[in-house]
Amino acid sequence: MELIFEKSIAGRKGFCFGPSDVPIHAQIDPKYARTQDAPLPEVSELDVVRHYTRLSQRNFSIDTHFYPLGSCTMKYNPKFTEALARLSGFTDLHPLLAQLSGGEQWTQGALQVLYELEQWMCEITGFSNFTMQPLAGAHGELTGIMLMAAYHKSKGNVKKKYVIVPDSAHGTNPASAAVAGYETLSIPSNKDGGMDLDALKAAVNGETAGLMMTNPSTYGVFEPNISEIADIIHAVDGIMYYDGANLNAVLGRCRPGDVGFDVMHINIHKTFATPHGGGGPGSGPVGVNEKLAKFLPISRVVKHSDGIYALDYDYSESIGYIASFYGNFGLLVRAYAYVLMLGKEGLIETANHAVLNANYIMNKLEPYYKICFDRICMHESVFSASQQAERGVTATDIAKFLIDQQVHPPTVYFPISVPEAVMIEPTETESKQTMDRFIETMIEADKLSQTNPKIFKEFPKTMPVTRPDEVKAARDVKTSFFLAPAEPESS
Ligand SMILES: *Cc1c(COP(=O)(O)O)cnc(C)c1O
Repeated sequence: MELIFEKSIAGRKGFCFGPSDVPIHAQIDPKYARTQDAPLPEVSELDVVRHYTRLSQRNFSIDTHFYPLGSCTMKYNPKFTEALARLSGFTDLHPLLAQLSGGEQWTQGALQVLYELEQWMCEITGFSNFTMQPLAGAHGELTGIMLMAAYHKSKGNVKKKYVIVPDSAHGTNPASAAVAGYETLSIPSNKDGGMDLDALKAAVNGETAGLMMTNPSTYGVFEPNISEIADIIHAVDGIMYYDGANLNAVLGRCRPGDVGFDVMHINIHKTFATPHGGGGPGSGPVGVNEKLAKFLPISRVVKHSDGIYALDYDYSESIGYIASFYGNFGLLVRAYAYVLMLGKEGLIETANHAVLNANYIMNKLEPYYKICFDRICMHESVFSASQQAERGVTATDIAKFLIDQQVHPPTVYFPISVPEAVMIEPTETESKQTMDRFIETMIEADKLSQTNPKIFKEFPKTMPVTRPDEVKAARDVKTSFFLAPAEPESS
């Protein structure tokens, strides 16, 4: 293991601050001040550049490897949209400029991006308004559930207590509902991967605040009973939340706002091809129908009759700010450029190819891996490596094998209700040749599990980190990740 701390040489400097002309210490209560210097590495600029460049090259990324990480929609990030997001007219704007009087003339372009992107998101999803503020899918969920709560409060629905989620839900769904103050009720799936309607009917009552679901579900299959589910929830004045993380499968083909949903989030970093960082920057705009529009976060971008764009704060029932300013603006510019680049037909083709590619892989792998639902999949397919596991080769082992084959592993052990789950999402941006190579590699893994199952425990052999001690990594997070070791570990 190489840590920047191990490169430290006493007295070596990469950068020197000039003398401070601000009396910082006078402002801080001595009981909070450091008594010793922070133990920072002492390194040169070149040490830093080499260290982090080398580390970055150890990563798998969409620009270097096939990345079929189910549920995450790791599609190619076009360099065209990157270039547009770097235009200085966008990057050099101060976020407060739009709020200063006279500032509008400098911010019309940026406000137009926000305004038009909102219109397009409405057109794509069938909702009446969007907020661009939320900073990730999960943050969008929290925003949506807060809108749900604001709705119930305004209607005097004081008994609302539960948010219903299917057992296939992404973990963020129950977490968001809980953070917003609701309890959650889980509904089992039926044998086709859809929601069990009888269980739903039995669970719904006057205490039901709403339901959260994604369609296609995290099993990668389409829920056909959506209108009936919406009717059941609406009958008790519940709110239908659409987790839009899987929108890539239905883009331009089905609009959540048309089929009974009241509120949704979009994962810009999934469907609209913007980069996923390690934990950020994401973007999770939230769309609503007329029922919830007045509760949306401020600020909102409006267009006056003279064509001038401006910010509007005049929403007395708004839940307030959910993030600072206008959300992750740079990602929104990329999404704007992506929609412009593809146009309506291009967006529909995106969904078509995402689904075609997923079904191609599913059909080719079906003879070798157990398929969970025997029906056409949407943008991803879920297998169980249970047959391989009987030979002693688990989903983790297959993932480790794939790393040596220069493929980022698919998602494993999710959805949690599928034993030894392997969830594959190729996305629309991969070529047939790339998918064929992946299919051959997966078939090779199956063959090897029959001839030499033991060898899997040695994978990955080609990586700087081979098999970390998973128990230690989970139990001993502090020493594994956050603290520099006192003594340099030998690598
Ligand atoms: C990715 C995902 C989320 C969470 O989105 P983040 O942007 O990672 O917070 C929620 N639901 C589903 C189904 C997802 O795939």
